[in-house]
Amino acid sequence: MVIFLDKDAPDEKIQEIIDKIRELGFSVQKSEGQNQTVIGVGGIKPEYDLKPISLIEGVSKVLGISEPYVFAGREFKQTDTVVQIGDVKIGGEEVVIFAGPCAVESEEQIFNIAGQIAKAGAKILRGGAYKPRTSPYSFQGLGEQGLKLIRQAADQNNLLVITEILESSQIDLIGKYTDIFQVGARNMHNYPLLKELGKIDKPVMLKRGWSATIDELLMSAEYILAGGNMRVILCERGIRTFEPSTRNTFDVSAIPVVHQKSHLPIIADPSHATGFRDKVIPVSRAAIAAGADGLMIEVHHNPQKALSDGPQALLPDQLMQMMTEIRAIAKAIGRTI
Ligand code: PEP
Ligand code: MN
Repeated sequence: MVIFLDKDAPDEKIQEIIDKIRELGFSVQKSEGQNQTVIGVGGIKPEYDLKPISLIEGVSKVLGISEPYVFAGREFKQTDTVVQIGDVKIGGEEVVIFAGPCAVESEEQIFNIAGQIAKAGAKILRGGAYKPRTSPYSFQGLGEQGLKLIRQAADQNNLLVITEILESSQIDLIGKYTDIFQVGARNMHNYPLLKELGKIDKPVMLKRGWSATIDELLMSAEYILAGGNMRVILCERGIRTFEPSTRNTFDVSAIPVVHQKSHLPIIADPSHATGFRDKVIPVSRAAIAAGADGLMIEVHHNPQKALSDGPQALLPDQLMQMMTEIRAIAKAIGRTI
């Protein structure tokens, strides 16, 4: 349900309305539009009688909404959400590049790659310290040592950090080192984790599960938003189809569909979508042309020796090349990189 308030409703009145609805047991978020304040209410069943709410003083209109999510949808918030961390804005005019290795492997590796991606113009350093590997015998990440190294490498190069969280018991530890929590494709349906991430005040990047629909992705985002954390970034990383030529199938249309249905920013991950280095640049170009708010690119200076995902890692020079190409595309659609 979305509640439109009287244009001149004072702040105390708005707070009173929010408190009243919370007392009824619903989750509530406020969205300040250009001309009007809107309150979203999550968890209202269709049979719920909206009349008492519409009679609260200061309420101008109450609308049931057509989608199963409230806070992730455009009906609640028409303007695009811009997730700002320091001076980096995700979802604004500038397209933001996240880059780095699949996993943090050593001091030498992460410092080398951080320096190169900063030179290329990336703003956010990625790298897993806890890796969700298909095989329990594969490299699982360096743990806290990896977190320390990625933080130091980012700080030295004026970059932000994004790293993956696997379970909610890791929130405090990872939160000490990261600027953005990454929820991987495997955890898109881990609702207890999403609920806990709804309570924190750091941004969360939520990747689409490889068999999840766009509405399911938005419902997962809703778990975080309903908890009060409105800084959610979505990520299209490819879905599993019958086509075996690439690791996954990049769903380019997910980008305009998400932009239509949701105010949240969406970035693209062509590395996991394609699985092959030579496909990453063409798919990056497509993602920018389709309106992606950012790209997440795996980069490694010695991919033959990488402990995970070497075949899809760009070499630093290729990242430079990619930046030149996508800058031209961004410019053509009124954006910058
Ligand atoms: C990753 O980004 O390192 C990763 C594991 O990706 P995904 O969750 O999309 O498989
Ligand atoms: Mn990877």
